[in-house]
Amino acid sequence: MSNVNGKPVARGVPGAHGQGPSGRGRGSGDFVFDMRSLGRSPGSFRDETRTAHAPEGLGSGLVVVPAGADVALDLRFEAVSEGVLVTGSAVAPLTGECARCLEPLASTVEVGIQELYRYLPGPGEDEADDEERFLDGDRLDLEPAFRDAVVLALPLSPLCREDCPGLCPECGARLAEAGPRHGHGEETDPRWGSLHQLDVSDRVED
Ligand SMILES: [Zn+2]
Ligand SMILES: [Zn+2]
Repeated sequence: MSNVNGKPVARGVPGAHGQGPSGRGRGSGDFVFDMRSLGRSPGSFRDETRTAHAPEGLGSGLVVVPAGADVALDLRFEAVSEGVLVTGSAVAPLTGECARCLEPLASTVEVGIQELYRYLPGPGEDEADDEERFLDGDRLDLEPAFRDAVVLALPLSPLCREDCPGLCPECGARLAEAGPRHGHGEETDPRWGSLHQLDVSDRVED
């Protein structure tokens, strides 16, 4: 009799296990697809949608796909004689700064994907070049193709909105807030003029 007072010792609080920390993976595994069910008969295909977590370091100077953000993948894998042809799309969120007014912006990037993943060349064949992608056994890692497609699709000059008027070149005010009539005119503001005069006369007297 090892139980105390007839009650078994609790081994754990229900719910404490199994949930774990909600830490997201680094993302790379999310882009790996198992091709076993596809087979190698040319013409067979499989459609798959998946939400993957964006890998780190995906972006340009002004915009990034936040690491770990949800990337919606909608793909078709088709067996062809040389390998697997992947076609479909990926949609990912973008965050960054407006190139004109420097305000934060949030947007999305959608890319089309069309990539041939070849079966690994046999020992005698040596036709691999850097441009080609290969299956790793039955695994197809879409991440490099996804990265390349996103980098090409990132806007060079992301805008918070199409017609963002940017900043006033003279005072730096956001013109979207300052309004269309904002300006400094050709003439110097009379108040500034009188200050300049004071300034000058002070110097003369020095
Ligand atoms: Zn803007
Ligand atoms: Zn101004």
